[in-house]
This record gives sequence, structure tokens and C-alpha cells, in this order.
Amino acid sequence: MPYFFKESAGLMAESEITLDQQDVHHACRVLKLAKGAAVTVADGRGAAFQGVICSAGPREVVVRLIEPAEPHESSLQITLLQSLAKGEKMDLIIRQAVELGAARVVPMATERSIPQFTASREVGRLKRWQKISQAAAAQCRRARLPRIEPVCRFEQVLDMARHCLSIVPWEMEKKQSLFELLRQPRPKHGAILLCIGPEGGFSRGEIESLTAAGAVSVHLGPRILRAETAAITALAMVQSAWGDLGPAQES
Ligand code: SAM
Repeated sequence: MPYFFKESAGLMAESEITLDQQDVHHACRVLKLAKGAAVTVADGRGAAFQGVICSAGPREVVVRLIEPAEPHESSLQITLLQSLAKGEKMDLIIRQAVELGAARVVPMATERSIPQFTASREVGRLKRWQKISQAAAAQCRRARLPRIEPVCRFEQVLDMARHCLSIVPWEMEKKQSLFELLRQPRPKHGAILLCIGPEGGFSRGEIESLTAAGAVSVHLGPRILRAETAAITALAMVQSAWGDLGPAQES
């Protein structure tokens, strides 16, 4: 069923909303939706409703909301702190992190991150990543739009690491695996920070600073994974053990 976001609206059953301008073209021209078509509309903050198109024209599409839809949100609030990766790798990581239920993706600059952005290029990138996040969220029917934040400095990462369970996959870690860590009870409030290094890896100094700030370093098995594989593997493992990829929760 086609899925749209209407972020400015407080959605309610039995109300009518107009789709945002950028969705009108997509709904009418691309998807060829007409009066009577069933759609889902989410507010990007966790609420979604099933609805029916009650009028569709080239300038305006009006949807009558009927009843709440499943929000498809994890009970974990996972922040993926991803060292800037080259080329289109960031696009892939963001798309898949959204599909796997990350609540937030924060690109970070580390000693060995290769891309260096000028301020204007960074603004462009951020817009692009936010679009990718929205498209992925619609595709996998998430009612909450994951936040993609501006590139942060490593000092900011340390500050974040002090406030919740922070996991740092590190290929040099010999003692603890992520698998073992995930056998422990999940953190009470479900907030988790997952820090993935760049293609060149974290420096030893960065790992020392992260662990001094309370982060736990773990390995992801004996093979060195590409940054994008490591991010997605770790996310999927965390969601399987503590989140919504595991056994169904009794309600
Ligand atoms: N430059 C490093 C090397 O060649 O030894 C590899 C870095 S890896 C391509 C990028 C990131 O993925 C790492 O910083 C780490 O966060 C994660 N990673 C990859 N393989 C891992 C593993 N086996 N265990 C833990 N983390 C891993």
C-alpha cells in the first residue's frame, strides 16, 4: 500500500489531510492513484493511519484517514554513529540502517575518515541523506522518521558515549564479542549507541578515549568486515537479541 509522510499534521481518524506538494506528483503521475485508492499516512513522529484518497488532481490530493496503522517501530532507540565513508557507501548504510530500525544516524569525523566536506557540500549531503532516510522509512512502513544529523566531531561522540550503552565494534578486540555482550539483559530504557569506524579503522587513541568514556569494544568475528557490512551486521544482531528482529513480544 502506498505510504506517505505528513509531518506537519496531527493525524486523527475521520479527518482529511492534503498530501505535501512533492507527494502529489508521485501519487498521481507515478503511482497513478485515483479516488478510492487505499494509502497509509504517517506523521513521522510515530503515528500512522490507513486512509482512502477522496480526491486526486494534479495540484492536490486529499486523503480521508480511517484508522490507526501499525507503526513498525522498535522498542530500542539505536543511534548509529557512522564514520564518514567514501562515495555512495553512506547512502547504502543510511538506507539499510533505516530498514533495520535505527532511530538516528549520526555521521562522524574520525582521524582516518576519508571524505572531508566543505560546509556547503555537507549541507547538500545531509539533504540527500535525509531524503534517502525518508524514502527508506516509507518503503519499510515506519511511522517515525529516523533522524539523520549533521556530521559530528569525535569529542561530541565521547559526550554521547557517556550517556547510554555504547558499543564499538573493533576488529582488534580479542576478549568480548558482540554476540556475548548481547546475552546480557537489554538496557532498561533501550537507548544504544553503535559506533562504526572508517575504512581505515579507529586509531588506538580513539578506542582508548571511547572506552574511557564508558563504551564497550566488541569484535564481530574473525574476519575484517567492510565498514558498511559491519554497521548492518551489528544493527541486525542488536535488533535480533534485544529489539524487534527477535521472538515476538507478548502483549
Ligand atoms: N582498517 C581496518 C583493518 O584493515 O584492519 C579495518 C576497518 S573496517 C573496514 C571498518 C570498521 O568496521 C571498523 O572500524 C570496525 O568498527 C568495523 N569492523 C569491521 N570488521 C570488524 C570485526 N571483525 N570486528 C569488529 N569490528 C569490525
